[in-house]
Amino acid sequence: MGKLKLKLLDLDETIVKLNEMGAKKILLQLPDGLKPHVFEYFNRLSSGFNIIVSSESFYGACDIGSRDVYSGVDAIVQLGHSEIPNIKYPKPVLFLEYRDSHKIEFRESMFDSLKAGGYRRIGLLCSVQYIDHMHEVDAVLKRIGFTTVTGIPDKRMKYPGQVLGCNFSSAHSIQNSVDCLLIVTTGKFHGIGAQLSTETDVFILDLNDLSLKNIKEETDRFIRKRYASISRALDAKKFCVVVDTKVGQYREKVAGVIVERIREMGREAVILTANEANPTDYSNMRCDAVVFTGCPRVPIDDAEKFAMPILTVTEFQMLFSRKPPRRYVMDEIVAVDEIRA
Ligand code: SF4
Repeated sequence: MGKLKLKLLDLDETIVKLNEMGAKKILLQLPDGLKPHVFEYFNRLSSGFNIIVSSESFYGACDIGSRDVYSGVDAIVQLGHSEIPNIKYPKPVLFLEYRDSHKIEFRESMFDSLKAGGYRRIGLLCSVQYIDHMHEVDAVLKRIGFTTVTGIPDKRMKYPGQVLGCNFSSAHSIQNSVDCLLIVTTGKFHGIGAQLSTETDVFILDLNDLSLKNIKEETDRFIRKRYASISRALDAKKFCVVVDTKVGQYREKVAGVIVERIREMGREAVILTANEANPTDYSNMRCDAVVFTGCPRVPIDDAEKFAMPILTVTEFQMLFSRKPPRRYVMDEIVAVDEIRA
């Protein structure tokens, strides 16, 4: 999925807003996909403002870089993500979202398997950059006789139907009123997350190959792999419990509860802060397991980089809480602790 189309705020509007707020010094954050355009953005903005470009990778609107940098600027301009409404950002942040602008023909026959499976009411979800495509799919489904319902997000997301790797509230909101969920996305992670977060059937419409797939088998494989990985923590004596200092991942209170539970079990825990989870740090600390309270994708996507098991918050609960959930549960972030500038 190639070209990107900036939407909602263009640079002219951004410049007007920055002037209105009297901002002089600006931090500019670009995701890796937009870094080839850095000179263009820098040149446009630097005629009126003192611009610092962050070269660090960042993964979402949960991340405005390190406090050392953002505390010295008047505002942040972040490209590529949509705001997380319930974060109290310590500085004004202007988000320039992008949408995939690939022209896609959604043929009616793509949805034959839904008809054949007896699904009539379809719940619609998407990764936010594909929201226009979700609307196109919505129109096709309605034209061929399906009823559609778009997911309603909680306050961590901005748009109906939107899902994040850390939040599937849009899926929860409609799971009982539809026959299945259909998520317009690329890759499998959001589909697996939606499947783990609900009891209903989940299909992904993968825009990479325009295939419609039931995600159940993939989800079962995911669960087996995670259990194999996290069960190694059962006998752990020493835990590192990590609080990620990114503004939208900061869950110190959750980490405190986990540490308390570990100590109740007669084991040892240290609470740590980190802006990036560096596997070598935990090896140096000789801990037997890590519990990571920041982005739930880190323990899942990066597990193989760690010498010891690394658990999400809900995986810790599955193994060690007094009343563990009966099935695998995805860690979802609903709200975070406030970080002050
Ligand atoms: S916490 Fe992770 S999944 Fe959630 S917005 Fe941030 S990077 Fe994305």
